[in-house]
Amino acid sequence: MTIVPRTCERCGGEVPAERVEALPDTWVCVRCSREINGEFDVYVIPEQTGKAGSLKKNYGGYTTRKVRKPLRPAE
Ligand SMILES: [Zn+2]
Repeated sequence: MTIVPRTCERCGGEVPAERVEALPDTWVCVRCSREINGEFDVYVIPEQTGKAGSLKKNYGGYTTRKVRKPLRPAE
């Protein structure tokens, strides 16, 4: 599989193939990602295994949810 560079959705610059390979769902280049403090907000959500109102300890794991930040054009 060939990884090809992408065009940054924020500044129109090039997203290097290395970055696309490491982060297949990225839309922005390294510089823009830094400027907006990361492309995604990551939330950690505990899995609910006990019944509601139960005092039993929750031994469930955690899931993470990645939410893409709204992209504003670079100034
Ligand atoms: Zn960019």
